[in-house]
Amino acid sequence: MNDILPPDSARWEWFEHIVRTLMRRYGYQNIRTPIVEPTALFVRGLGEVTDIVEKEMYSFADSLNGDLLTLRPEGTAGVVRAVNEHSFLYEGGKRLFYIGPMFRHERPQKGRYRQFHQVGAEVLGFAGPDVDAELILMTVALWRDLGLNVGTDVRLELNSLGQPDERRAHREALIKHLESHADQLDEEARRRLHSNPLRILDTKNAAMQPIVEAAPQLIDFLGESSLAHFDAVKRVLDAVGVNYRVNPRLVRGMDYYNLTVFEWVTDRLGAQGTVCGGGRFDGLIEQLGGKPAPGVGWGLGIERLLLLLQELGIEPPPSAPDAFAVVLAGTPLPLVMSTIESLRDRGVHVLLNPVGQAGPASPKSQFKKADASGARFALVFGPDEVALGQVSVKPLRDGGEQVTRPVAQAGEWAASLRQS
Ligand code: ATP
Ligand code: MG
Repeated sequence: MNDILPPDSARWEWFEHIVRTLMRRYGYQNIRTPIVEPTALFVRGLGEVTDIVEKEMYSFADSLNGDLLTLRPEGTAGVVRAVNEHSFLYEGGKRLFYIGPMFRHERPQKGRYRQFHQVGAEVLGFAGPDVDAELILMTVALWRDLGLNVGTDVRLELNSLGQPDERRAHREALIKHLESHADQLDEEARRRLHSNPLRILDTKNAAMQPIVEAAPQLIDFLGESSLAHFDAVKRVLDAVGVNYRVNPRLVRGMDYYNLTVFEWVTDRLGAQGTVCGGGRFDGLIEQLGGKPAPGVGWGLGIERLLLLLQELGIEPPPSAPDAFAVVLAGTPLPLVMSTIESLRDRGVHVLLNPVGQAGPASPKSQFKKADASGARFALVFGPDEVALGQVSVKPLRDGGEQVTRPVAQAGEWAASLRQS
């Protein structure tokens, strides 16, 4: 679990600002659910035989009342619980998004942490392929807003998991195939053979790749309507010019998915190459006790994405102050601070170097700090000038003359300090 300190936190704020702007553009509204939920929600929602539920959840009994609770490992289950609890789809479908911490007990490494953060988008109550496509197009727009190259820095992988009955038919064929190679299965695969064989296709064990590659593919078991849904999504992506690769072995980690699933992957982060993943979960709302309604969404790992941006040298725009206040010895502080406040009230970003009990530091040291701050101007407050109701404004970057301004009329010249 990481502390996020300045200046790194600026990268987070920049990213979150871009996400919120994007969400507004697409009409997604913010939802905030608790970080702690009943353990049963995730067991029922994600599926008993999944990595998360089997070995990654921070679960505990509340010592005060014995409630079994879990720090949320993902966002969708909580969103669906909230929507059900508040009959939130009563008036029709909703487009929602969240940003926040998730918790998984995994082995910490680059791009994999025990507290990490996700942006998630969920569309609830709409069954059509248009919303699947919209959710993907939104991620494309996000990559572009961040300055990523779509297709090279991040690549889109797409698959369809069909419907439960299609998965059942495939599952039988898959179990048969895997059983006929039982001697080559690792321990985890053998354990999952009858509980969750689809997840075996997702194995990272290189020794099992040949069996996995020869396995029957779910896509060959899809009926007309599932294929039509998949085609409709692909046709929109084609029309907008989004490149993708259909990956028949893409299954995703949670049981709740059906039809469209997708992942955005990168080669730049080693083993932690998936930055965003999502798909349709039409059965989940009902499974968690709600009135049957379809759903589709994605989740994006913020740490991995920020690592990728850093790796590519993509930096947030600098955020230097407009002005740095340099205070000379003997200047009455109340006048200095009230002048600075009237500038700040007018939107000027002013940094005041703390003066301290012994009085201000030497002008030389203050000007050094002013320069290091990146400010465009120094506001020089000296006792003689302040006595005349004035302050000197000295350009630090773009050349130009130092001028003297009346402190009482800050409203007239404040705008000249602001970054246009
Ligand atoms: P992985 O295959 O890498 O374990 P996942 O399939 O478990 O990922 P999801 O549950 O789909 O991941 O979560 C969506 C995104 O959240 C991932 O694509 C990834 O970017 C991020 N993510 C998942 N687990 C972690 C973690 N422990 N630390 C940091 N980011 C994570
Ligand atoms: Mg995982």
